[in-house]
Amino acid sequence: MRPEQFAPQDQERLLPTPGGQMAYRCLGCGGHHGIEKLLYTCPNCGQVLLIEDRAFDRLKALDGPGWRRIFDLRRMLNIPALKGVFRYAELLAPVIPLDSVLYLGEGHTPIVEASPLLKQTLGLDFAFKNDGQNPSASFKDRGMAVALSYINYLIKHRGAGQILSICASTGDTSAAAALYGAYLAPAVKSAVLLPRGKVTPQQLSQPLGAGAAVLEIPGVFDDCMKVVEHLADNYQVALLNSKNAWRILGQESYAYELAQDLDWDMTGRLVLAPIGNAGNISAIMSGFMKLLDLGVITSLPKIIGVQSHHADPVFQYYQQSSPEKRVWRPVTVQASTAQAAMIGNPVSMPRVIELARRYDDLFGGGGFYVVQVSEQQIMDHMILANRHGHIVCTQGGESLAGLAQARAAGLVGASERAICDATAHQLKFAGFQQMYFENSFPAEFGVSPRPELVNMPQLVAALPEEQLPAPGRPLEPQAFRRFVEATSDAVAARLGLEKK
Ligand SMILES: *Cc1c(COP(=O)(O)O)cnc(C)c1O
Ligand SMILES: [Zn+2]
Repeated sequence: MRPEQFAPQDQERLLPTPGGQMAYRCLGCGGHHGIEKLLYTCPNCGQVLLIEDRAFDRLKALDGPGWRRIFDLRRMLNIPALKGVFRYAELLAPVIPLDSVLYLGEGHTPIVEASPLLKQTLGLDFAFKNDGQNPSASFKDRGMAVALSYINYLIKHRGAGQILSICASTGDTSAAAALYGAYLAPAVKSAVLLPRGKVTPQQLSQPLGAGAAVLEIPGVFDDCMKVVEHLADNYQVALLNSKNAWRILGQESYAYELAQDLDWDMTGRLVLAPIGNAGNISAIMSGFMKLLDLGVITSLPKIIGVQSHHADPVFQYYQQSSPEKRVWRPVTVQASTAQAAMIGNPVSMPRVIELARRYDDLFGGGGFYVVQVSEQQIMDHMILANRHGHIVCTQGGESLAGLAQARAAGLVGASERAICDATAHQLKFAGFQQMYFENSFPAEFGVSPRPELVNMPQLVAALPEEQLPAPGRPLEPQAFRRFVEATSDAVAARLGLEKK
């Protein structure tokens, strides 16, 4: 529909207008800093930042049901800038005008109910939200849509010159950053730093295809991240890691969509998400709290973060149940199939600590947990989910394994219904599936296949080699008929087909 086709009383707020007063807020000293310059850490104390709208309360002029109505009506509009995460512009970045919004098809990923058999097998009631169905096949596109829209705004309206964007990545951040950056060529050029050998071939192909400078650094992600931070402190570059607080805003859209797709009713719901650098879980909590503040939802879902036992600093932190005794300690990571979350020193930990405390308070206690799962559980659950019609990646398998774990630990009530964040597409992690099927995992992963989940291609060569077709060597008609018949018989025997 076109805006003018809506009722006059709805038209007033149908299209968002920039009315926010966005500012960085430091999680260390509490200081505020203007957004004209891209900041990643506090210039006063060096701590990580969040971006807040200091005029947020102006949105309360409209009540919760009013906002629901606006967001629901916006679904009907055919304006590209409002087709993605900017449907919730007032909650994300209400300083970016629509003419600067980048839309590459991100957001509004489907919630897919777990197959009936999978629910029965696991004894759990749950769905996946398939964030692998974003343009670069992971949730990272949500944050990049906002970060690059802001950069686009600086270029279009604030006279920013050419921008070189840079990020460290476990694979998906660089894929998203390179894609969104390429869309703004030639004003934006991208460089990505990857830990050598620690991203999948599919993830490596993505920034290469988008034309970014791809630099491989020996070490793990945490080492790459330090280099990128040093670059951002000392050179003219735009940092696109989740240290960039604009990305957190974009990733809040996951919470908004979830609430909207569940008719704004979060009662008895819980959300599970893998934790790596901890940007996503921070954004999800922040998003739900904004909705609650505006009365758009009236209760918060329980949030459960999931970590592998090979990269579990956030889990270790929350193992100590009394908050004042908790000590933050980064860990040294070991090999993980949840490679996109294989991070020992998450940049967003200060955000998690602050947001989880507020979240849990608003929830009334018991609203935020972190569970730990094994590499074996991650792989088994990924493949089990794939087996039942789902396209989850290893990190999505981690979410599901976390649900089973949380249930076993008594954190999930019998009537609660879960949403597992399937953060990327299965195909990005096909190599891990292959290792599982071939039983070729290096010992450090500690994964061995469950025989009933293994699947391998089977060759059907029903005749001697010289009687089979080959590229560039077609068979004579009679030989070809023989080939078709013999092969069909062999296939029928293999599948146990009955004759008509
Ligand atoms: C980045 C990423 C994660 C981890 O998210 P954080 O925000 O770093 O905690 C999980 N899964 C996938 C597929 C990712 O790309
Ligand atoms: Zn500070």
